[in-house]
Amino acid sequence: MLATMTSFADITTIAVGGEIDRFVEPTTRVGVIEAVEEADAKGLPLFVIGGGSNVLVSDEPFHGVVVRDARRAITVPDEAAPVEGDDRTVHVNAEAGCNWDDFVDYCVRLGLEGVEGLSGIPGTVGASVVQNIGAYGQDVASSVESVEVWDRKDKAVKNLHADELRFGYRMSALKASMYQAPAVPAGEFFPTPRYVVLSVTFALRHSSTGVVGYGQLAKALGVEVGDRMDTKEIRDAVLRVRAAKGMLEDATRYTRLAMQGTKKATLVATALRAQNDTPDANRHSCGSFFMNPILTAEQAAMLPPEAPRFEAVLPNGEPGVKTSAAWLIDHAGFHKGYTVDDDAKAGLSTLHTLALTNRGQAGSQDVAKLAKTVQDGVEHTFGVRLVPEPVVVGFSLR
Ligand SMILES: Cc1cc2nc3c(=O)[nH]c(=O)nc-3n(C[C@H](O)[C@H](O)[C@H](O)COP(=O)(O)OP(=O)(O)OC[C@H]3O[C@@H](n4cnc5c(N)ncnc54)[C@H](O)[C@@H]3O)c2cc1C
Repeated sequence: MLATMTSFADITTIAVGGEIDRFVEPTTRVGVIEAVEEADAKGLPLFVIGGGSNVLVSDEPFHGVVVRDARRAITVPDEAAPVEGDDRTVHVNAEAGCNWDDFVDYCVRLGLEGVEGLSGIPGTVGASVVQNIGAYGQDVASSVESVEVWDRKDKAVKNLHADELRFGYRMSALKASMYQAPAVPAGEFFPTPRYVVLSVTFALRHSSTGVVGYGQLAKALGVEVGDRMDTKEIRDAVLRVRAAKGMLEDATRYTRLAMQGTKKATLVATALRAQNDTPDANRHSCGSFFMNPILTAEQAAMLPPEAPRFEAVLPNGEPGVKTSAAWLIDHAGFHKGYTVDDDAKAGLSTLHTLALTNRGQAGSQDVAKLAKTVQDGVEHTFGVRLVPEPVVVGFSLR
């Protein structure tokens, strides 16, 4: 197990955050459990971090333990792929520390369908199930069979089946275990869930083609939504569309000492070549900073008629209406490239309204000021308070 000096600015995609008292990288399953258990037993703040792509941490020193799982193996427990009959399911298991896009690349190369639309999402397999990552018509929930976790409360390893994970829009039972309300941390476990993911077992389909599930992607591929295409072509198109929107992480981070070895070297090299055209100012973000609000019918009725509306389910299980955070932000007057003042070190991406970016040397308060300005402006205009998607540590963004 490695224990080195580092800061959150070194290990997060937005490159913000203070020094860490103790940073450990266990290389075994028991090592992960012991590191978590030791911090919990001593009552120390514990942050199990993956790729650091969905966190915004204060610049103040973190007086606790940060654990980053250094296990990255992918295995295929099914000995042979099914070749006949209707059931073409192939199980794949990945350890929590495996880079998510390395996993997608592996599955696509193996001729498996189910995660190709999630190409290019930064982070790890472990965190993918925490917030149920989704993009381009796919989410991880639809291909997860079970998740092996360390339960910090019961102090036991458990195997949680997909049915128990209560997956929803950017939500799961794992994520819910660290919040008492949206953006309001629960006292006990935050900023790490009660359940620390050790590995994930996916049920994928043996098929070299996948479904194009999203309009923008279909347009890029010149096909209709619902058409089947080669999964490799879908993956390449997703990566191209993401690059054009500045929604790929900055691959130069993997050349930094604190990130070395966390992603497959060949894929880092490919990503570095692909990102040359992305302006540097757009490369350091947490991706989409705000969740798309899910409103009651009454709240949705207050929005202008032209505001986007999609069917959705409220946290209480009742039918709701999902609107677009990007639309609200733009129509509240915060356009691409917006900054709170001319010298601001943080700003909205010039390519994507929803991404708050560190333009270089931004601190947590620069990002917080921008986020609050946008939240206040949207609330003032539309009566809707936007909820941040990243895990905010050391200060509050309600
Ligand atoms: C450029 C960019 C684009 C993005 N695009 C998308 C997108 O299209 N769709 C989408 O859904 N998200 C997107 N994201 C957000 C982010 O990539 C995902 O949320 C990702 O799953 C976070 O993974 P991570 O390993 O970086 O998690 P981290 O940021 O390291 O951690 C996030 C949370 O997960 C917890 N966690 C991490 N590992 C474990 C574990 N092993 N067990 C339990 N808890 C754990 C942490 O404690 C923390 O609470 C994007 C981010 C960026 C920077």
